[in-house]
Amino acid sequence: MVQQYSVLINGKLEKPGKWIDVVNPANEQVIAQVPDCGQEELDRAVAAARAAFKTWKNVPIEERRAVIQKISAAIKANADELMRLLTSEQGKPHAQAAGEIHGAAAMAAAQSTLSLEDEINEDSDTRLSRTRRVPVGVVGGIVPWNFPVMMAVQKIVPALLSGCTMVLKPSPFTPLATLRIVELIADEVPAGVLNVITGGDDLGPLITSHPDIDKITFTGSTATGKRVMESASKDLKRITLELGGNDASIVLPDADVKKVAEQLFWSSFTNAGQICVAAKRIYIHEDIYDELSAAIAEYAKGVKVGDGAEQGTAVGPIQNKKQYERVLDLIQDAKDNGYKFLVGGDHDPSIPGYYVPITILDNPPEDARIVAEEQFGPVMPLMKFSTVEEAIQRANASDYGLAGAVWTGNPEEGVKVAEQLETGTVWVNEYLHLSPFAPFAGHKQSGFGAEYGKEGLLEFTYPQVITVKREKAVA
Ligand code: NAD
Repeated sequence: MVQQYSVLINGKLEKPGKWIDVVNPANEQVIAQVPDCGQEELDRAVAAARAAFKTWKNVPIEERRAVIQKISAAIKANADELMRLLTSEQGKPHAQAAGEIHGAAAMAAAQSTLSLEDEINEDSDTRLSRTRRVPVGVVGGIVPWNFPVMMAVQKIVPALLSGCTMVLKPSPFTPLATLRIVELIADEVPAGVLNVITGGDDLGPLITSHPDIDKITFTGSTATGKRVMESASKDLKRITLELGGNDASIVLPDADVKKVAEQLFWSSFTNAGQICVAAKRIYIHEDIYDELSAAIAEYAKGVKVGDGAEQGTAVGPIQNKKQYERVLDLIQDAKDNGYKFLVGGDHDPSIPGYYVPITILDNPPEDARIVAEEQFGPVMPLMKFSTVEEAIQRANASDYGLAGAVWTGNPEEGVKVAEQLETGTVWVNEYLHLSPFAPFAGHKQSGFGAEYGKEGLLEFTYPQVITVKREKAVA
């Protein structure tokens, strides 16, 4: 029998009795079961969060900060165990899983230092007006399967720091490391302040429509994000949505080909391409296209795809069967249309596990599905451009607006291009770096609101303006 994990409701670890199987994507074996919670567990979790809110909102921020620092410390102290668990449920290689665990602990510690000071609007003879920040209330957090620990922590930290209480739902595909963290911290967080329940995709809509939840913070696909927004609109819940992206990288003709080849490769293939801000369309200037595409293809040959738990694996499997089939479908579409493959294109369905070989396409047209859609897998389309204006126009021709990158020997020129991209984040000569203190906010259909930094924290609060009339002293 596989291990059965507990959920956390009102400070107690529970095993409600109905179960969901969790599968290792490297071999398709069931490795654990987690509770299949429904309306009854959700109602109890929300009631606990509502009751805890009455006191938590008045707990001084220093004490709330200390609780978050304990969460961070628990993650760090158990990083090795959590890293192995994460690889087994998500598929990412050990080194990348360790990066996610340590990154989540560091992110929590850094963001715990944020504060919510009052602001003075007017301090005159006749009036004192100040804005204070009050917590929104009970927050429902919904997390995807690509960075389950980082995304869970990224929702828990600002919610708790602001004085909100929370009901968090991990993805049914990747709940294990999160539930283990919850077990480790159950005694550190006051009962009801953080509740974590697992369930199938039907649990999400129950959360977004729950009448006693005040705010939803959601990370996932744009399609689901629209459903979340529609559902939350019924009672005007506050929402923060971090959604999909189809990020473009623009490589200018003065880029250092040898240096950039490896960095570009990893900007697309880290986590097997399953990153919202992965480089999903690479535009290369025609002067260096042949040399750079050959260098990327050469680099790809030395990269091992396999079980993330095996030494030497650098690219793991796709996390789940549905996404695996979607990525294979995009590759098949490229084949059917006669697009040229620089690397990959073939795949062996007889091997257990959701493996997609590294695939690089050579200059497919702009309307190819692999260019126009978010692939979220290890497939990289390289496209040739002639002028910078053309590259910017093609990069911006998307409903998404999450992130992008510019690669150049001249950072100042890179910044000029960056400023013309219609995305919330742009990197010049680097990739995938997110600061705990900078807002991460998708433009267009990549999101609504912001996470990270002060701006992300403020999303969990309402402004409240208190104005006091001052009587002028009579002489
Ligand atoms: P998804 O939208 O299928 O699922 C995300 C979460 O929503 C899961 O927990 C799921 O159970 C839940 N859910 C499903 N249907 C729901 C509904 N109707 N109402 C409420 N919740 C529901 O996304 P995914 O496949 O888990 O993740 C991949 C997508 O997430 C990609 O598009 C990726 O770009 C995006 N993503 C975005 C960011 C970001 O910060 N912008 C980060 C990671 C992933």
